[in-house]
Amino acid sequence: MAHLELATDHGQPLPDDSVSESPLAIRGLTVSYGEKPAVFSVDATFRDGSMTAIIGPNGAGKSTLLKAALGVIRPLSGAITVYGKPLRNQRHRIAYVPQRASVDWDFPTRVLDVVLMGLYRQLGLLGRLNAQHRARALDCLDRVGMADFAERQIGQLSGGQQQRVFLARALAQDAELYLLDEPFAGVDAATEKAIIDVLKTLNRQGRTVVAVHHDLATVTDYFDRVFLINVRKVAEGAVADAFTAANLQAAYGGRLATAQIDDLELAAH
Ligand code: ADP
Ligand code: MG
Repeated sequence: MAHLELATDHGQPLPDDSVSESPLAIRGLTVSYGEKPAVFSVDATFRDGSMTAIIGPNGAGKSTLLKAALGVIRPLSGAITVYGKPLRNQRHRIAYVPQRASVDWDFPTRVLDVVLMGLYRQLGLLGRLNAQHRARALDCLDRVGMADFAERQIGQLSGGQQQRVFLARALAQDAELYLLDEPFAGVDAATEKAIIDVLKTLNRQGRTVVAVHHDLATVTDYFDRVFLINVRKVAEGAVADAFTAANLQAAYGGRLATAQIDDLELAAH
């Protein structure tokens, strides 16, 4: 989706109408697990049809931001709107792939059943799974190159294979907004390629993709926008404007060596 780049990426607040069109708009979000906030007073406006990387050091509040956006953790304060409406009735429009499962899969669960979980919300409480649903789940597995593993146990797969299955589950939801938490962390190169291809295809179809991303070297290839955070928002904007050495220094502080920054393909500011 082509959008005019509004001249609002340099600190001025976005006009309200862009918030109402945004797949995800966050205002004044503060989240705290203890005394110190994990996310403090953050505003973010993710653009319809964009592909945005959320970037920041470990413990910067990236996962917390996504979880709050999904309503799975309760913020101290803040407002979240999804396509201009309160999150409450909009969750079905969001698919989420959590940071790679610390989930223990000792309980035997078939790969196909993991993907079918993506359909439960559409089915409702009384819905019954039928052959069409299974075909749809298989098709989603096929899109991530995992159709041959449908009958396997999820716990027996490699980390990369599990990650593909979780992406297939998100695909089964057929959402408009995809939120992913470090989808490429700890996966093999073939899986990374498979996942980015799927995400780019979704994006070409007009879906909005927001992913926590830790590999600064691939930001420019994979994403068109960035959101930099270190508890507070550092910057948000087009990669060409906001993915700068200064913003990276501001987000990472001393944790990023100058040599690392020198190797990156950065916006020229
Ligand atoms: P990131 O994803 O950027 O690495 P997180 O959002 O996971 O950061 O965490 C932000 C901060 O909140 C960290 O200091 C982390 O230790 C803390 N934190 C995250 N989850 C919890 C939790 N469930 N209970 C207490 N502290 C937490
Ligand atoms: Mg995280």
